[in-house]
Amino acid sequence: MLFKEINFSKYSSIKIGATLDVALLEECDSLIEDYYLIGSCNNLLIGTQPPPLMMLSKKYDYIKIEDGVLKIGGSTPSGRVASFCKKNNIADFEFLSHLPGKLGGLVYMNAGLREYEIFNKLINITTCSNLKQKEEINYGYRFTDINEPILEAEFELLYGFDETKVEMFKKMRSNQPSTPSAGSCFKNPEGDYAGRLIEAVGLKGKRVGGMEFSSEHANFLVNQGDGNFDDAIYLIKEAQRRVFKEFNIWLECEIVILDKSYMGKGSPLIKS
Ligand SMILES: Cc1cc2nc3c(=O)[nH]c(=O)nc-3n(C[C@H](O)[C@H](O)[C@H](O)COP(=O)(O)OP(=O)(O)OC[C@H]3O[C@@H](n4cnc5c(N)ncnc54)[C@H](O)[C@@H]3O)c2cc1C
Repeated sequence: MLFKEINFSKYSSIKIGATLDVALLEECDSLIEDYYLIGSCNNLLIGTQPPPLMMLSKKYDYIKIEDGVLKIGGSTPSGRVASFCKKNNIADFEFLSHLPGKLGGLVYMNAGLREYEIFNKLINITTCSNLKQKEEINYGYRFTDINEPILEAEFELLYGFDETKVEMFKKMRSNQPSTPSAGSCFKNPEGDYAGRLIEAVGLKGKRVGGMEFSSEHANFLVNQGDGNFDDAIYLIKEAQRRVFKEFNIWLECEIVILDKSYMGKGSPLIKS
């Protein structure tokens, strides 16, 4: 297997993590079961004891129109999809111009902005083991039950790129901080907003070390420059503890925490 050295304090959107060797997935084989797959690290918090990591190789970075559908490789960045759609006058992917990630990560998280989600136009995905139709996948708000590498996805092809939507998505983003973060820290609990709850328990603007629940948008855990994993975890736990005590609501992490102490069954405090 080939490896690539990645400095996660630069590569990850939250600017936290050591320099690690990441395996490059070219072909699916039994080895991949030993590694955790990452995309472009826009939704991840890398810990001090991360599991072995892998990423799709460049082979999966492509986008094309074939047999009347849009075929996109799992390691294609969202920006590339958005510009391809603009250039070819393709509808319904405008939201990707303001949503960071690679196609595999976007599908796995069912990423989106409000009702515009990546699953809306999905037809099927190719994983390491088979071709799965959308109907065979359980999915919902920032959730899917996919449990293996997504190599490719096919989408319905409709024409009519809408520039006004690009502007609309840009506006939706205007209340979000541009300081490094991993996007929304917690999923919105049903009928409520994580940001409102964090503010209600007095944590909006709360800073520990270099990490802070942003004063612009409380559900964004931002790195003010020298934030580290321990500071981030402290704030995440504190928000979960206070919100649970005050409102009896458990804030579920939207950020995926990659650290042996917080993964699997032994991590009752932080679910992701
Ligand atoms: C400033 C900012 C704003 C954001 N705003 C939004 C938003 O409005 N809406 C939203 O939904 N998200 C948002 N996000 C989060 C992020 O953009 C999405 O979660 C995106 O899908 C992450 O893609 P990624 O490639 O970076 O995946 P990563 O963060 O690297 O990984 C995320 C998860 O996807 C899995 N994964 C990655 N690649 C694959 C693959 N090929 N096959 C199977 N699983 C895979 C990983 O195992 C991991 O569990 C935001 C992030 C930032 C930094």
